[in-house]
Amino acid sequence: MMTRVEPGSTVLVLGAGIVGLCTALALQRRGLAVTLIDSGEPGAGCSAGNAAMIQIGSSLPLAAPGLLRRVPGMLTDPEGPLVMRWRHLPALMPWGLKLLHNATPEATARNEAALAGLLSGARRAFDDLLAGTPAHGVIRNRGELYVVRTEQAFAAYRAKIEACRYNGVEIEVLDAARIRELEPLLSPEYRHGVYVPGSAYVDHPQRLSTLIFDQFLAEGGQFERCRIVKGGRSVEGQPFLTSDSGRTFGAERLVVAAGSAAGGVSGWFGPRLPIEPQRGYHITLPPGADALQGPVIEGEMSIAVSPVGGVNRVAGTMEFAGHSAAPDWRRAEMLMPLARRMIPTLPDQIETRWYGDRPGTPDSVPVLGPRKGDDRVWYACGHGMLGLTLSARSGVLLAAAMTGDAQAAQALAASSPDRF
Ligand SMILES: Cc1cc2nc3c(=O)[nH]c(=O)nc-3n(C[C@H](O)[C@H](O)[C@H](O)COP(=O)(O)OP(=O)(O)OC[C@H]3O[C@@H](n4cnc5c(N)ncnc54)[C@H](O)[C@@H]3O)c2cc1C
Repeated sequence: MMTRVEPGSTVLVLGAGIVGLCTALALQRRGLAVTLIDSGEPGAGCSAGNAAMIQIGSSLPLAAPGLLRRVPGMLTDPEGPLVMRWRHLPALMPWGLKLLHNATPEATARNEAALAGLLSGARRAFDDLLAGTPAHGVIRNRGELYVVRTEQAFAAYRAKIEACRYNGVEIEVLDAARIRELEPLLSPEYRHGVYVPGSAYVDHPQRLSTLIFDQFLAEGGQFERCRIVKGGRSVEGQPFLTSDSGRTFGAERLVVAAGSAAGGVSGWFGPRLPIEPQRGYHITLPPGADALQGPVIEGEMSIAVSPVGGVNRVAGTMEFAGHSAAPDWRRAEMLMPLARRMIPTLPDQIETRWYGDRPGTPDSVPVLGPRKGDDRVWYACGHGMLGLTLSARSGVLLAAAMTGDAQAAQALAASSPDRF
């Protein structure tokens, strides 16, 4: 039985990425005394470099029937959208097997339903949490545009269209003329696509994080900048964290929102959660080059181009390399020719390159809530490809559940840390 946390109770939130920030602000709003901890600038981890999309129609999990057929290609095509470094294979095996277990029709349907449930309130949660604050001004109401060149490639969108229609998410099927109307800069090669008008994007992911952080402080939140190297429990069972300089932080509740490091952190408090870093890269193009009207996802090359702060950001690729592997900048650089194929007027010049590790679970569903029988330690992690999209929804639901809202606790049931 989960104990209702009363106003004034103390909570530590480990990790000030977009998920930790939204969670910390939502907890603070519920009257809890929140201390947020991060080793770096808030929002500067994976949350800084994403493709900026709030993707309400993205309920299809990574593991789906047919995944096994794709694995050999993944291992042999170094330029494919999904790659693995051979050296990482032994460490990846347990997580990879869990991923394959989730590729059955039954598991895929279950995971899809769980994601659709969270996504259904994802856009509105940004309004609930941020309306009336400067952070709300960073959100742009513009849908997601997906494009492909050939009818054959368009077939891959059938499942997405069906899933959106099933879940009541508006989705429009596009012809070449409508694509051009929505995004005149795209190459005329694009003749097929879909558009999810209810989605949105943020003008600048890092700015969003910074503004949420400022709001959190303005509403009385505390921040500690330090690297946490250990965690445990006091004799009374309260969680504590210890920093590399020996400082100890304790509170009545702890929320682990440590992004791709959450797997390791979870091991301090119980069985380790299967959260695998899924590395992605982005490049930005020089300012001044024509920026798109909104984010565009290219389905055949699996890349996204988003106008971030008025500059085109080209993001993509998923690489299984482990936490500490050095970046393979070829994976960032290969985005340039792909983007130019998509938008021929782009200059052939990379301004900046970036990489970050998405925190991936084997079922693509985030981990939200406490373990059964242990409501001192809560999890808000494992958001994979949807961390920005689900950040506000996760934070709002988790804060409501922690403070005794039974409906919110029910909404988190499919994201339980006990499911693995
Ligand atoms: C190329 C790319 C494109 C993407 N595009 C999108 C998109 O368009 N839409 C979308 O919804 N999602 C997208 N994502 C995914 C999204 O960015 C992530 O899911 C999200 O950023 C995860 O947020 P987080 O808060 O869980 O993790 P992070 O942002 O990584 O934050 C975790 C924080 O925890 C801190 N931390 C961890 N361990 C410790 C410790 N021991 N001590 C102190 N601090 C610690 C870290 O410093 C970090 O700041 C994309 C990802 C990539 C890589």
